[in-house]
Amino acid sequence: MSAEEPPFKLRPLPTIEFPILPEDIARERRKKLLIGSSIITLTGLTGALFFLWPGIERKEVHAADRQAQPAVPADLGCVPPSDASAPPPPPPSDSAPLRDPPPRTQSRHRFGQSPGFRPALLSAGLSSSEADAVIAALEGVLDFRRCRPEHEITIERDNEGALKRFEYRASPVQIYEVRRDANGTFRGVRVEVPLEVTEAGHGGFITASLGEAIESAGLGRQLVGPFIEAFENRIDFQSDLRPGDVFKVVVVEERLNGLLYRYGQVLAMELRTQKKGVLRSFYFASPDGLGDFFDESGRPAQGSWLRTPLHYDHISSPFDPKRFHPILRRIVPHNGIDYAAPPGTPVWAAAAGEVIWVGERGPNGNLVSIAHQGGYVTHYAHLLRFAQGLRRGMRVRQKQVIGYVGSTGRSTGPHLHFALERDGRFINPATVLNMQGPPLPPPLMLRFRAEMGRLRRLLEKIELPPPPLALPKVESKPPPPPDPMD
Ligand SMILES: [Zn+2]
Repeated sequence: MSAEEPPFKLRPLPTIEFPILPEDIARERRKKLLIGSSIITLTGLTGALFFLWPGIERKEVHAADRQAQPAVPADLGCVPPSDASAPPPPPPSDSAPLRDPPPRTQSRHRFGQSPGFRPALLSAGLSSSEADAVIAALEGVLDFRRCRPEHEITIERDNEGALKRFEYRASPVQIYEVRRDANGTFRGVRVEVPLEVTEAGHGGFITASLGEAIESAGLGRQLVGPFIEAFENRIDFQSDLRPGDVFKVVVVEERLNGLLYRYGQVLAMELRTQKKGVLRSFYFASPDGLGDFFDESGRPAQGSWLRTPLHYDHISSPFDPKRFHPILRRIVPHNGIDYAAPPGTPVWAAAAGEVIWVGERGPNGNLVSIAHQGGYVTHYAHLLRFAQGLRRGMRVRQKQVIGYVGSTGRSTGPHLHFALERDGRFINPATVLNMQGPPLPPPLMLRFRAEMGRLRRLLEKIELPPPPLALPKVESKPPPPPDPMD
């Protein structure tokens, strides 16, 4: 496991790699704006020049500029539009400004599409021997196989042009550095970036949807996934939530310089609903390290099956025997449920079982199939890639990662096609996989109750903002009819 992982057990949330620091997002936006506006400015200026100055050829302008300012790129905005005989800009003075003070150079490059670490170093401008020195210094410090196109390389040279410092930045908290010490040897270290880890409680009123409520409370939308995972066996998110219902969440937050860097594990969730009462769910990790959400009776929130084997954004296509296929343009039964999720989102085994297929399979793209007790088989299609080491004949546990969301095979975008087969017939996972799971065994139940008590107190401490004015008056509505399933 990489050192990047925090010292407590948690399952990563799907969007953890996205920039969630406000400054990250702002920087991305600025980058785009800058590129966009400089293209517009250049085009505009060039156009204006042609329009206002038809008698003079472009070639001459450039030649004049080059003569006048050898080191500076032509500044088209400075060229007078109608007077070609304008005095040339002052010649560079004798105290050549390039000589003082000679700056230490720093250059930054993206890892990009380099076929390997060494080629990336060479294309970033390191000499062959410098590249070898950097690689030797980072041996055992950086896992060269984990380099990604978006990673950044920074090279600093001293006044003589010798390599002074090399930095490899995989993320704001994963930085590796090579420095030349007094003896001239290069040493590589991982730079410790301290993250402040806290358990934070948040809550708010639901007006339109849970996702909207979570966003208006200033929280990341990726917190919706755990709510669905924890409560979908007890609540229908489409029809059971009403304006004025309340959500609360206790989540591990990792902060960098005081700003939220990413969410860790969601520890506790509460929904106060007018239709289904108060529902709570608590995260609990057993000694084998596998964590799950449990209800207050200590039963797994998802029952003995994971009905949704991933954190998803939305259902893009439900189980439908009479579906009109978007690509084939005819009626083709949709034998499973499509869950839209970002590429790379981990996909879990819905229950323990034996892997009976790992590999490409026609329109399914990369497919994993698992046989379970009772004649059930689950299928996971269009995967980007498989979990490392996953083989046919292997036993997997419930919630073991088996692959990652992709768009391989006949697919219109990144999603998981999840199908359930029993005795050779496809059935709807959403209606079949809702059996209750067994409660925790007694020794674990004691520990769970203690942890649940602690988390319940944290939930109780969460203060709610004043309810939004737009909320309808609850008491003016007749109480909902009792749900026959309750
Ligand atoms: Zn599908």
